[in-house]
Amino acid sequence: VYPDPLRNAIDELGRLPGIGPKNAARLAFHLLLKTSNEDATRFADAIVQMKAQTTFCPVCCSVAANGELCGICADDRRDPSMICVVQDPRDLVVMERSGTFAGRYHVLHGGLSPLEGIGPDQLRIAELEARCRGGVVDEVILCTNPNVEGDTTALYLAKVLGPLVAKVTKIASGVPVGGDLEYADEMTIGRAFEGRRDLEA
Ligand SMILES: [Zn+2]
Repeated sequence: VYPDPLRNAIDELGRLPGIGPKNAARLAFHLLLKTSNEDATRFADAIVQMKAQTTFCPVCCSVAANGELCGICADDRRDPSMICVVQDPRDLVVMERSGTFAGRYHVLHGGLSPLEGIGPDQLRIAELEARCRGGVVDEVILCTNPNVEGDTTALYLAKVLGPLVAKVTKIASGVPVGGDLEYADEMTIGRAFEGRRDLEA
């Protein structure tokens, strides 16, 4: 029923997470009928530019503009002796919004999952180990997700990082079990963070 170009747009929008076929059609019709050519072009350009000009921070592996450090690694007011480890760049954003942490971050880009074939080499763990070997880091705070994957990752990191830094701590489990850190509210994150405990390897 749809002309091919409209069909294509609906298909592409429908591939985004959380967008079902109905919403994809709604968005495509909005772009087709309610959006000026200028606005639609700006929207498409933003995606192309984002893909072309964004990469990973060479220090913490979060997202950064090509050839640059991320905003946090570039900020020398941030305490380099503490590293908060998160699985996903979006977790970092939640943590920042909670305003509880003044140190640096490290983004793993996932969690250990032997069943899915995700081992230490598939995550940004070598980079984290290298940072911990530099002699600057005192405390590593593990803010992995409160689920099996996150816990497996935290235990593994405690084992490999324990000998390298003075302290490895883990965020308190104030967040709902099985949930993602991303969906926890800022207050809960703040409390969980303050209640972090030493993790024995
Ligand atoms: Zn960085």
